Amino acid sequence: MRLSRYFLPVLKETPAEAQIASHRLMLRAGMIKQASAGIYSWLPLGFKVLRKLENIVHEEQVRAGHTPMLMPTLQSADLWRESGRYDDYGEEMLRITDRQGRDLLYGPTNEELITDIFRSHVGSYKDLPLTLYHIQWKFRDEIRPRFGVMRGREFFMKDGYNFDLTKEDALHAYNRHMVSYLRTYERMGLQAIPMRADSGPIGGDDTHEFLVLAETGESEVFYDSAITDLKLGDRSVDYDDWDQCASIVKEWTTPYARTDETHDDAKFNEVPEARRMKSRGIEVGQIFYFGTKYSEAMGATVQGKDGKPVPVHMGSHGIGVSRLVGAIIEASHDDKGIIWPEGVTPFHVGIVNVKQGDSEADAACDAIYKSIEALGLEPLYDDTSDRAGAKFATQDLIGLPWRITVGPRGLKNGVVELTCRRTGASEELPPEQAVEKIA
Ligand code: ATP
Ligand code: MG
Ligand code: MG
Ligand code: MG
Repeated sequence: MRLSRYFLPVLKETPAEAQIASHRLMLRAGMIKQASAGIYSWLPLGFKVLRKLENIVHEEQVRAGHTPMLMPTLQSADLWRESGRYDDYGEEMLRITDRQGRDLLYGPTNEELITDIFRSHVGSYKDLPLTLYHIQWKFRDEIRPRFGVMRGREFFMKDGYNFDLTKEDALHAYNRHMVSYLRTYERMGLQAIPMRADSGPIGGDDTHEFLVLAETGESEVFYDSAITDLKLGDRSVDYDDWDQCASIVKEWTTPYARTDETHDDAKFNEVPEARRMKSRGIEVGQIFYFGTKYSEAMGATVQGKDGKPVPVHMGSHGIGVSRLVGAIIEASHDDKGIIWPEGVTPFHVGIVNVKQGDSEADAACDAIYKSIEALGLEPLYDDTSDRAGAKFATQDLIGLPWRITVGPRGLKNGVVELTCRRTGASEELPPEQAVEKIA
C-alpha cells in the first residue's frame, strides 16, 4: 500500500478523552474514531488489525474441530423469555421495538439463539458432539464505556457453544476450548493466563477467564508467578485426544491463578512467598461449562442411546476480539507508539523515502516494494512529500515491526537502513539483504 493512496488520519495531539495508552494510541494512529459513547468506526488501519485477529481466531477454532457460522445481531425477545434471561439480564441489554410492536434486542451473547437452532435440527445423540461458533458484533449498554474499544458498548466477539451428550464429553469440549484459546493468544504475541473465575449471569460452575497482565486492567488478579513461564509453543496438539487436552489444562490450572471474585487467601498463602503475585489484568476471554441450564429451560434434548430424551450438556466460550486490539497495544508499546507483534501487524514493513521525487530514491523504493510483495508480505510505503522527521514519527506511532529507510546518500553507497521497531536497532544493508532479513 502506498500511503498517498491510503487513509491514515494520524493525530499529532494527544486526545484529551483517552486515559490509557492503548486508547490514546489507537486514536493517534488513526485506527478508530468514536461514533458515539462506546461505539466506534474502525478506520482502515484498525480494521486491518481487527481482521487479522478475527482470522487467527477462525483458524484456531477450525483447527480445534469447531464449526463457524453466523447469527444475526438482532434477536427476538421471546427466546430470552423462554430462558428467563429477558428480565434477568438487566439494563446492559439494549431493547428495541419494531414497527409491529414486537420486542427485539441487540444480542449481548447468543446462548438462547444457538439453543433454538440446535433444538430445531438436532434430535439424536448420534449428531453429537457438536461445537458451533460465530464472530459477530455484540451490544451491551455498559454503564461506563471507557478505554476505547476495551470497554465498548458495541464490540466484536467470538462466541462458541458446545453440545454434548454427557458431562464428561462437555468437559472435554471445555478443555479443548482452553487449549485452543491458549494457542490463539500466543499467536497474537500475548500471554493470557487462565484464571478461575465467577460465572456471573451466564450461570454454571466451571469457568476460567483469560487475563492479560496490565496495570490498566480492570480486574484484580492473584497468581503464582510459575504460571507465566508456561508456553504452548509449537507442540502439536490433537484435539481429539482427551488425555492430551486434559493434561495441558492441568498444566495451566495447577499453579494458583484467580481473579478477585474467586480469590482465596488461605490457598494463595500456600504459594511460596517469592512467587505470590498480585496485579491487574484485562479479561480477553472466558470459557464456561454450564451443564443443562439452557437445554432444560428451552427443551434442547436428544434421543439418548436408550431411546429416551436427554437434555444436552452445554458450554459457552468467548473471545473479546475487538478488546484484544487494545489489550495487545497495552502489552506492547513504548512512548513513541505501538509495537505490533509479527502475527497481528497491519503491515509487515514500512518503507520511508526520505527524498520523495528523487528519481533514484523513488526507483529504489519501488523495487523494494515489489520484492517485499513477492515474498507474500505487505509493505506500507510512505511516498508522501512530508519531511523525513514526520515520516519517522508516523512509522514509530503505527508500530510496524520493520522500517526500511531509503535516501540518496545511502544509495550512493549501495545501502538502505533497516530498523527494528522493537529494539530500535538499525543497520545499513544493500536493499536485497534488507528485504531478506524481513522475510
Ligand atoms: P467484563 O467483565 O469485562 O465486563 P464479561 O465477563 O462481561 O466482560 P463475557 O460475557 O465473558 O464478558 O464476554 C466474553 C468476552 O467479550 C470478554 O472476555 C471480553 O474480552 C469481551 N467483552 C465483554 N464485554 C466487552 C465490552 N463491553 N467491550 C469489549 N469487549 C468486551
Ligand atoms: Mg461485562
Ligand atoms: Mg468479566
Ligand atoms: Mg467474562
